[in-house]
Amino acid sequence: MKIESKTVHWGDRKKVGGFTPVTTPIYTAASYVYDSMDQLDRVFDLQEQGPSYARYDNPTRNALEEVMRELEGGAGAIACASGMIAIHTAILAALLDRPKRVLAANMMYGATTSMLMKIFDPLGVETTQVDPCDLAAFEKALNETKPGCVIVETIANPLLRVPALDKIAQLCRKADAPLIVDNTFATPLLVRPLELGANIVCHSVTKYLAGHGDVLGGVIVSDAANFDTIRTLSRTMGPVLGPFESYLTMRGIKTLGLRFERQCSNANQVAAWLAKHQAVERVYFPGLPAHPDAEAVGRLFPANQCSGLVAFEIKGADKPKIFKFMESLKMVVRATSLGDVHTMILYPAMASHRDLSPKHRERLGIHENLVRMSIGIEAIEDILADLDQALAI
Ligand SMILES: *Cc1c(COP(=O)(O)O)cnc(C)c1O
Repeated sequence: MKIESKTVHWGDRKKVGGFTPVTTPIYTAASYVYDSMDQLDRVFDLQEQGPSYARYDNPTRNALEEVMRELEGGAGAIACASGMIAIHTAILAALLDRPKRVLAANMMYGATTSMLMKIFDPLGVETTQVDPCDLAAFEKALNETKPGCVIVETIANPLLRVPALDKIAQLCRKADAPLIVDNTFATPLLVRPLELGANIVCHSVTKYLAGHGDVLGGVIVSDAANFDTIRTLSRTMGPVLGPFESYLTMRGIKTLGLRFERQCSNANQVAAWLAKHQAVERVYFPGLPAHPDAEAVGRLFPANQCSGLVAFEIKGADKPKIFKFMESLKMVVRATSLGDVHTMILYPAMASHRDLSPKHRERLGIHENLVRMSIGIEAIEDILADLDQALAI
């Protein structure tokens, strides 16, 4: 079955009693009763599948985990209450019986970098940052630091660089360091990191997967070697997603293929249009021929699809000018997040990369005149018209 069909069908239609609901209901029960104590005993022991207590299993959440496991091609999945707690749990699991060292991409979601620096570091987990798009530097850092795990993003925040994930995975295998990939920006429609040799995939389902701006959630999908540890951690700590959010996420995933196709095609057009606009200094978009990682993009992504994110710099703009531009937008939503059906815009220096010092941002190339858009499913004419009138102000 093709992945677009799996998004529609997977996880649902479990028989309850004598009938089968077409979609999975929202199960709110905190605990579950079995006729025989022997059966409950087997369920507690994971010898038999079934819910016993909501921190361990919930049928609505399990349905979402099933579709995500299938979409990413993993051995198991855990749906979590946020993208951040999914990443946190994945790193904890990877490091549990390995050296307490992380090798991390130097360009990542701001909160992921903050988590490594402000939570893991004081606990004795040392992080080394490296440019994942510089394979020689990456291999050197890998060999020098001998990390307990490596973490990178498929499409890096916020300048949309695309590391050669297949080659990175190969190097990590050789170094025996599990590779965690944050696949939020790409979705499994673009890249399935486990198929390329990664070990654990995380998503913020808040973004493309749920897709409608009404859910906070995350998911971990893992290979067989790491899943038991992840599940044990999850059962102990309870980072799990609630049944209502699980339901909404699953409902969102059913239209992921359609939404993403439109978002990708709209983004291609917005990027090409911005690149020719006289008020625009520079456009960052993996689909542009001049993109520094064009080779990896061509090898890893399907033709003409590179997700719906477009970043760009406005000529000579300082913070007040950027604020004025953003306030002039009439349809595009000024809000933090991405992957929703509506087109959104954010100012990385104030939002996703707020926690970094101005110097650190500048070093990463996140300039004061940079904005990042997530292109929605609206008519392309309306998106371009809104940008055009705001850029003219
Ligand atoms: C949003 C995001 C996160 C964090 O997810 P939450 O659901 O907000 O906790 C992590 N990584 C990336 C790439 C994101 O875009």
